[in-house]
Amino acid sequence: MSDSPTTTTPQARFYEKRDDGKIRCRLCPHNCVIADGKVGFCQVRKNEAGELVLPFYGAASALGVDPIEKKPLFHFHPGTPILSVGFLGCFLRCPFCQNYRISQSTVAHTERVSPDDLVSRAQREDSFGIAYTYNEPSIHAEYVLDSAERAADAGLKNVLVTAGYLNEDSAKEIYAAMDAANIDLKGFQEDFYRKELAGGLKEVLRGIEIAYERCHVEVTTLVIPGKNDSDEETREIAKFIAGLDPNIPLHMSAYYPTFNYTTEATSPSHLLSRIEIAREHLNFVYPGNIRAPANTHCPSCGNLLIERSGYRTRVPGVRDGHCSECGAEVPVAGL
Ligand code: SF4
Repeated sequence: MSDSPTTTTPQARFYEKRDDGKIRCRLCPHNCVIADGKVGFCQVRKNEAGELVLPFYGAASALGVDPIEKKPLFHFHPGTPILSVGFLGCFLRCPFCQNYRISQSTVAHTERVSPDDLVSRAQREDSFGIAYTYNEPSIHAEYVLDSAERAADAGLKNVLVTAGYLNEDSAKEIYAAMDAANIDLKGFQEDFYRKELAGGLKEVLRGIEIAYERCHVEVTTLVIPGKNDSDEETREIAKFIAGLDPNIPLHMSAYYPTFNYTTEATSPSHLLSRIEIAREHLNFVYPGNIRAPANTHCPSCGNLLIERSGYRTRVPGVRDGHCSECGAEVPVAGL
């Protein structure tokens, strides 16, 4: 364990060397060209004498057991706690980031945890898996992949909570190593992604498609008044997800002012009206960050399948993976 970056600086993958001594990182669509001694846009991948190295490999900014519902994942082993680990840095610059102290800075306290330590900790905590979350974990892809391989060997599940802004090759490899992912879809305007978040919509949409082909997927949209909450944009988000599978859960969360945004918070009534629009296309749309029922009902007969109260979960209406009333298959893993 240590509080500072490692001195062994493990080597990165997902990059190319250039003739001028600079490095082009290929992990995310920023494709940063990094000069010797400098770090990329995400602040955690560094050119050291012509090699891309990882000074923050295994530097955990947060480590603890959470309900899986907190990720949020509602259709993946409901009611089960999972060891959750976060790091530092991000490939986006969302001005409303709720975790900006760890995502937009590399000075927060960290604790060095090797992949083997992480798996042992998950086993000690009786966790059914490991969730890589809190900051943007995919910029630590090498550590996530090393840990995921060891976790899978130990019979544990792997979960990624991500903003999903990855290049295709890295996305394919990372999601293939995951059992489940919650991916942010922060709106449906390319301009909003480019100008306000320093990312890109089309790459995130492609990432969701890639993830859906490889693991269980749920999507989260933070609903921000005046930014991404029009009827039309809500429909576009829901239609895109429904085009992959109308059973993909969409979590629509209320925004609160934080970091560089002072826009008024999303009112519960407004959030619920957005959810009603999304439900025109999707079978499972859940509210987040407000006090409102977030239960799962059978799309066929309306039977209460899963009841949630805070982070307490009951499963009154599922028998052997099917609705106890009408017998329809319930698209929830682990029941
Ligand atoms: S992962 Fe980091 S260094 Fe690599 S391209 Fe993206 S922002 Fe740049």
